[in-house]
Amino acid sequence: MAQMFYDDDADLSIIAGKKVAVIGYGSQGHAHALNLRDSGVDVRIGLAEGSKSREKAEAEGLRVLSVADATAEADVVVILVPDQHARTVYAEQIQPNLKKDATLLFAHGFNIRFGYIEAPEGVDVVMVAPKGPGHLVRREYTDGRGVPVLLAVEKDESGTAWDTAKSYAKGIGGLRAGGIGTTFTEETETDLFGEQAVLCGGASQLVMYGFETLVEAGYQPEIAYFECLHELKLIVDLMIEGGIAKQRWSISDTAEYGDYVSGPRVIDSHVKENMQGVLADIQNGTFAKRFIDDQDAGAPEFQALREKGAQHPIEATGRELRKLMAWVKDSDSDYTEGSAA
Ligand code: NDP
Ligand code: MG
Ligand code: MG
Repeated sequence: MAQMFYDDDADLSIIAGKKVAVIGYGSQGHAHALNLRDSGVDVRIGLAEGSKSREKAEAEGLRVLSVADATAEADVVVILVPDQHARTVYAEQIQPNLKKDATLLFAHGFNIRFGYIEAPEGVDVVMVAPKGPGHLVRREYTDGRGVPVLLAVEKDESGTAWDTAKSYAKGIGGLRAGGIGTTFTEETETDLFGEQAVLCGGASQLVMYGFETLVEAGYQPEIAYFECLHELKLIVDLMIEGGIAKQRWSISDTAEYGDYVSGPRVIDSHVKENMQGVLADIQNGTFAKRFIDDQDAGAPEFQALREKGAQHPIEATGRELRKLMAWVKDSDSDYTEGSAA
C-alpha cells in the first residue's frame, strides 16, 4: 500500500508561518491561492505584466505583484503556469529573485523530471499535485472536503521539505481527502502515460474509430454519436463509482458478454505493445523534447493537430445533437477552466 498522509500527519502552522507566492492564477493557481488564504496562509499572486488573470485575483482581494516581486518576498514559490512556459518564467523572473533557502513547489513534475528547471543549492523542491481540476479543488474545499493529492520531494536541502509539503497540502484541503507519497519521476511519467494512452489520446481515438466504423458502414452519424461518444459518460461514471465490475454489473447481459468477447479483439495485444512504446518515449524524454521544441518554435505542430482534430465529422454531429440535451453543458467557460489531466 502506498504511503498515505492525512490532516493529522501535517502541521498547518508551518505553511501559515511562511510567505507563499502563487505564480499563475489559472485552473490550479486560483484554487491553491484561495484555499491557502482561507486556511490562514499569507498569499500573494505573481503574474506577468498585462495578465488576463489579474482582474480575477484582485476581485478576490488577493495581492497581485510581478512574478519577480512576488518571488522576492516568498519563502515558498508555487509554480502554477502552463508547463511549457514554466522554464522561461523560472529562468527570467523566479531564479534571479529566489531567496537562498526558499522552497519551490510544483503541481506536476514535468519541468523537474525532464531537467528544464534546476533549482539552486539550498532550495527545496517539492510537489503537491491535486488529482482533479482547479475548480473542483476549490469547490471541495469550500464544501469542507478536499481532492486527494500526490506528494513528493525531489530535493530536501533544509531537512524539512516533507513537513513543508504536507503542511501545504493540508492548507489546500488535500489531506482532508488524503495524500499519497510518490516521486517526481513516478508522478510525471504516469501522468503523461495516463493522459496519452488511456484518458485523452486513447479514449479520443477509440471514440473516433468507433464513430468512423459505423458511419462508413452506412449508419447515420447521429446514431453513431450516441452509441460511441455520448454514452461513454454513463459507462465511465459507473467505473468511477465501483470499478469495471460495477459497470459490468449495471449493463445488460448482452452488453457484458460482448464486453468479454469483443473488448480484447478491439484492444488487442498490439495496443499494449503500442502503449509500451508510448511509455518508452515518455521515459526517455522523446515526448517531452518534441512537445517543448514545438512550443518553442511557436507550436506549429500543436496548432495543426488541434485544427485537424476540430475538423473531424464527429464534432459537427455532436454540436447539433447537444442542442437537444438541455442537461448537457457546452458553455465556453468549460474550456477555460483548464484541463484535468
Ligand atoms: P493554467 O493554464 O490554468 O494557468 C494559466 C495561468 O498561468 C494564468 O494565470 C496565466 O496568466 C498564467 N501564465 C501563463 N503564462 C505565464 C507567464 N509567462 N508568466 C506568468 N504567468 C503566466 O494552468 P493549470 O492551472 O492548468 O496548470 C498549472 C500547473 O498545474 C501545471 O504544472 C499543470 O500540469 C498542473 N496541474 C494542472 C491540473 C489541471 O487540472 N489543470 C491538475 C493537476 C496539476 P494569463 O491569464 O495572463 O494567461
Ligand atoms: Mg497531465
Ligand atoms: Mg493527470
